[in-house]
Amino acid sequence: MKIAILGAGLAGLSSGFTLIKDGHDIEIFETQNTIGGLAKSVIFEGCTFDIGPHRFHSKNKDLIKRINKIVSLDVKKRISHIYLKNKLVEYPLTSTSMLSLPFLTSLNIGLDYLKTKLNPFKIDDSFETWVKNRFGKKMYEIYFGPYTEKVWGLKPSLISQDWAIQRIGLFSLWDAVKNILFKTEDTPRTYVSKFYYPKEGGIGKIAKGLVENLESGGGKIHLNKTVGMGFLKNRKKYDFIISTIPITQLLKVDLKYRALILLDLILKEDIEIEDMWLYFPEKNFIFNRVSFPKKFNKNNIVDDKYTACVEIACNFNDKFWNAKKKVLEQLVIRDLEKTGLISKEQIESSNIIKEKFAYPVYDLNYKIKLERAKEIITKMKNVILLGRNGLFTYNNMDHSIEAGFKIKEFIKGFDIKIEKGEYFG
Ligand SMILES: Cc1cc2nc3c(=O)[nH]c(=O)nc-3n(C[C@H](O)[C@H](O)[C@H](O)COP(=O)(O)OP(=O)(O)OC[C@H]3O[C@@H](n4cnc5c(N)ncnc54)[C@H](O)[C@@H]3O)c2cc1C
Repeated sequence: MKIAILGAGLAGLSSGFTLIKDGHDIEIFETQNTIGGLAKSVIFEGCTFDIGPHRFHSKNKDLIKRINKIVSLDVKKRISHIYLKNKLVEYPLTSTSMLSLPFLTSLNIGLDYLKTKLNPFKIDDSFETWVKNRFGKKMYEIYFGPYTEKVWGLKPSLISQDWAIQRIGLFSLWDAVKNILFKTEDTPRTYVSKFYYPKEGGIGKIAKGLVENLESGGGKIHLNKTVGMGFLKNRKKYDFIISTIPITQLLKVDLKYRALILLDLILKEDIEIEDMWLYFPEKNFIFNRVSFPKKFNKNNIVDDKYTACVEIACNFNDKFWNAKKKVLEQLVIRDLEKTGLISKEQIESSNIIKEKFAYPVYDLNYKIKLERAKEIITKMKNVILLGRNGLFTYNNMDHSIEAGFKIKEFIKGFDIKIEKGEYFG
């Protein structure tokens, strides 16, 4: 069969990897000048940077084995904190982390939780009410509310509770305490303390491994090739089209994606911190997360250069997106200096990466709009939507890869369910 795959992220590449083995004629179209999509790695001054912290994990042991055959993986132990009120508070939340907050704050968290248990919000349909009902008002106000508003650029009362279910994946403050007291078998993703990471080459090595197999089988990848609605008009040229590009590139549909700017920093000295990444929920920091690539793999740095990756969530074409590199750099340095973790003098150079489609925005009406769009595509018969942006869904890397590995079943028209856990990262 002649098959076109739109997008060379993990979903597109693993589909191509699977189909090429059966001798199909595969062509992949990718708008960027490189492969890997959100799971690529970028080399700057010899150092490797991912698109923010990327850890690979799956409940599917076979999937991990298959990836390990394509790329050698190491097991890593997660260490991360929330930077809150000038302190590092353990994340994911534990009873100890809550006790490490100032006494009055911890007391208020406990009291507020009890209050909401006695008198919960009757309508539980937004991120705000979902979190308040399960964690209490105080916990919402100090962490979940501000962090979410920063990442999404939307008031949490306007965000669907689906996001809370996927992102937090833990049912209440009491569950957080229980998880520490009695370690349960079915650990929610947020609590996964170990993960896999390539022995070399950054997370992007997974995509590279898929490409090597695909190209050696005769598959073709066209980089710098943007496709969209026009491509669908000529769909008769192909037996199948597998689209992993944002659904808004394929159809006129009122769905929105949140963009992300990454400021990759080369540092002269190491940072004295154990963490792989830190979350910054407070408004006085323009970034929401900072990660340290060396902590994922020491091969991510070279020649005694040290690195940090700063994430700024924004909207396409807003003041951050359009800001000059120098301006962004100054804002980031201003806020990093407030933490005392990195000083201006420590920074040697920086590189900016922009991702226009980082997060599908789950507003309160997204489901209806998405279903309508999917119906239009289904009627086309030979077009299949796949992956995080293609399906407008909070996918992890393992979900995108697993969907690609099962592409033959999708082509046969089976309704395949990919096990979806909570959102990582
Ligand atoms: C900051 C961040 C941290 C994350 N952390 C983790 C983590 O720790 N663990 C985890 O498992 N997952 C994580 N994820 C999610 C993970 O990156 C994605 O689930 C996965 O990479 C999605 O792969 P995909 O192929 O479905 O989509 P994408 O990677 O988005 O691939 C789509 C491809 O289509 C291309 N494209 C777009 N428009 C066009 C067009 N018009 N024409 C041609 N090509 C086009 C894009 O350039 C891209 O290459 C994180 C995501 C982000 C943003």
